[in-house]
Amino acid sequence: MRGLLALLTATTCLATAMVASATTIYPLDRATILSGSPFDMKVEFDGVIAEGDVTVKINGKPAKDVLGGEIAFIEKEADADASAIRFKGVTIAEAGSYEIVAKAGDETKTVTWDVYGTAETPKAKNVIFLVGDGLSVAHRTAARIMSRGMTEGKANARLAMDDLDRMAFIGTSSTEAIATDSANTMSAYMTGHKTAVNAIGVYADRTKDSMDDPKVETMAEALRRQTNKAIGIVTTSELQDATPAAVASHTRKRGDKAEINQMMFDVKPDVILGGGSAYFLPQATPGSKRKDDKDFVKMYQDAGYTLATNKEELEKATGTNTGKILGLFHTGNMDSTLDREFLKKGTVGKFPNQPGLDEMTKVAIDQLSKNQDGFFLMVEGANIDKMSHPLDWDRAVMDTIEFDKAIGVAMEFAKTNPDTMIVVTGDHTHGVSLIGTVDDEKEGTDMREKVGTYAAAGFPNYTDENGDGYPDKIDVSRRLFLSANNGPDHYETFRPKLDGPFVPAIQNEQKQYIANEQYKDVPGAVLVQGNIPRDGDTGVHAVDDVVLQSTGPGSEGFKGYLEQSDVYRVLADAFALGTKQAK
Ligand SMILES: [Zn+2]
Repeated sequence: MRGLLALLTATTCLATAMVASATTIYPLDRATILSGSPFDMKVEFDGVIAEGDVTVKINGKPAKDVLGGEIAFIEKEADADASAIRFKGVTIAEAGSYEIVAKAGDETKTVTWDVYGTAETPKAKNVIFLVGDGLSVAHRTAARIMSRGMTEGKANARLAMDDLDRMAFIGTSSTEAIATDSANTMSAYMTGHKTAVNAIGVYADRTKDSMDDPKVETMAEALRRQTNKAIGIVTTSELQDATPAAVASHTRKRGDKAEINQMMFDVKPDVILGGGSAYFLPQATPGSKRKDDKDFVKMYQDAGYTLATNKEELEKATGTNTGKILGLFHTGNMDSTLDREFLKKGTVGKFPNQPGLDEMTKVAIDQLSKNQDGFFLMVEGANIDKMSHPLDWDRAVMDTIEFDKAIGVAMEFAKTNPDTMIVVTGDHTHGVSLIGTVDDEKEGTDMREKVGTYAAAGFPNYTDENGDGYPDKIDVSRRLFLSANNGPDHYETFRPKLDGPFVPAIQNEQKQYIANEQYKDVPGAVLVQGNIPRDGDTGVHAVDDVVLQSTGPGSEGFKGYLEQSDVYRVLADAFALGTKQAK
């Protein structure tokens, strides 16, 4: 009898648990929330429920008493034959553990949130947050060897990033999968909340509308709410691309670039430098990607920004003292360092005078540091990722060297401004490794036999006669050999792509990606069989941890393993964003 009773109870519990799992509460279970930071809460029920049958309690009290804000009950949501409750722009002022229980009839869903406070007073005046998009360990090692050289197994000199004293491993997985993209990863850094692939500044709810998802506060919004600090965004990608977008915008779909451009304008970062002018121009202007007549260049100029469209104008803009600079150097993504500075390939013919990431970083710091209250600057080396996708390792590594130069600029500033925290990290990794060298001087024509592994790898023979940190040329006779562990079918040519970025695969009539025949006749090229689905045209992101490094006040919070969303907590603590500051 007792046994039967136990069995019955167990079955009942199981049934309840299964039903309950159909209800979803955003922010998700184990969310960490900055005290006083506005967010949207949403409860998605499994079926249509009468308003009177629903209760949502937080630590035993009705949710609306705890949260305040606007509350709406939706009996039947768009795209779902089910009810939901939305709480818009609510806040929790007091730090602590919060248990949220949503009940609809017999259904119960419970989640717990950790609302955290921060230091009473700021630890750092400035934060410079540098993201190498896709930055993996192989990129760093290759950049060090290519830029600084190596003798008898020891680096001849160190990269700037090698001297940052704190370090942590960062887990980059998204809320829906172990794998990830630049939207949800940067969003975790810039909001303290993990979310789904392609989402920025929101939890990904079940409705199709990409602009209606439950929002969380971004770094830029928190700074505007709590401080008078200046904000800067510097990138070599389109300014609407996921990484820069995540500093200041909210959408379920990173492709909402026109909307992202508007959201960035609403926040008005003081210095904005990068590509993506296509979304600033009214539709009638050639090159515009807008579907309306809004002229964002004019809107920014009317708001007091000095416009720069090339290197020279950017230099001049630094002296103008308006306090605000808008730099637009490309309609799309800016060219890679190798193309821009050396080979003049890619789209450099059309945009001949693009500044480098290090130059943009210098201008941004000079400008932002005029603000007495300090600043937050985000710098993204975007082409590390954009060139790793097509397995173009020379371009990815050259961009890593340029990224390191930008880190050097930040470290130089911190020397005389020790109240500055510097964070250097990737947003996610790529499946790439440095395994040895390719030596043209080995006998024969079979390029594969020229790959040096183990002792046969020796050391590459790049030179840097002019001491600019870049190799004088990349097609030296013994060069680094990097290899991807994933990708589409493609030809491995064992050579730098001097004619422009590598296009490993092209689409056939069945819409599958096959090896690009263009490289078939490169002497010694080897057909590499792909190992990812055939609708993929490039290598994909890896799930491997990212290495984060940091220095300066507040950086002691970076150690061991951290979830990507925990990084925001360290930044918020450094700026005391949980405490109301005198504005
Ligand atoms: Zn990527």
